[in-house]
Amino acid sequence: MRLLALPERPLALLFDLDSTLYSHPAYAAFQTEVLVERLARERGESVAALEAEFARRRAAREAAGLGRTSLGNLFLELGVDIPTSVRWREELIDPAAWLARDPRLDEALAALAARFALALVTNNPRSVGEKSLEALGVRPRFPVVIGLDDTYRSKPDPAPYALAAERLGVAAEACVSVGDRHDVDLAPALALGMGAILVEAVEDVYALPAALRT
Ligand SMILES: [Mg+2]
Repeated sequence: MRLLALPERPLALLFDLDSTLYSHPAYAAFQTEVLVERLARERGESVAALEAEFARRRAAREAAGLGRTSLGNLFLELGVDIPTSVRWREELIDPAAWLARDPRLDEALAALAARFALALVTNNPRSVGEKSLEALGVRPRFPVVIGLDDTYRSKPDPAPYALAAERLGVAAEACVSVGDRHDVDLAPALALGMGAILVEAVEDVYALPAALRT
């Protein structure tokens, strides 16, 4: 893990969900595939053609010096509004089919919850975020869950981070974003004055209580 920026006195941790609170490459790939398939069907084109279109758009962003963006924002560029993204994700993604209870995660989050206010900030709909936390056995650790349908803005838009801080009643400067994607999870939080921790896998979250011990 990399502690990119930490407030002097951190009061809240804002966690990304996918590939942060669990590591499951097949499920992560499934979530993308199923949404791309859904959009290809909507557009009446092949999955391969649509994937090529996304690759073109990602390369254009990179050439323009722009950071990576979310699948939700790429869908938005192709005319899929956020309410439609929310509906498709609710229809197609079933966290309980993929995720299982993780007692080590719960232990780490319990230790963190004793010292920090915790929130989840996910680009999935809130219902999918809550079902994921339930499947992992950690739902009670998160008093605040911000999903795509809370702001209708997809990370790296900063709005979900600003709302999480507001709901927790903690100033942005005392919040720390924890996530696996710098451009999507950390850059918008840093822009709001928050701290940022880059994780590579859920094992880094297990190690967080020790890493944040002062
Ligand atoms: Mg993630």
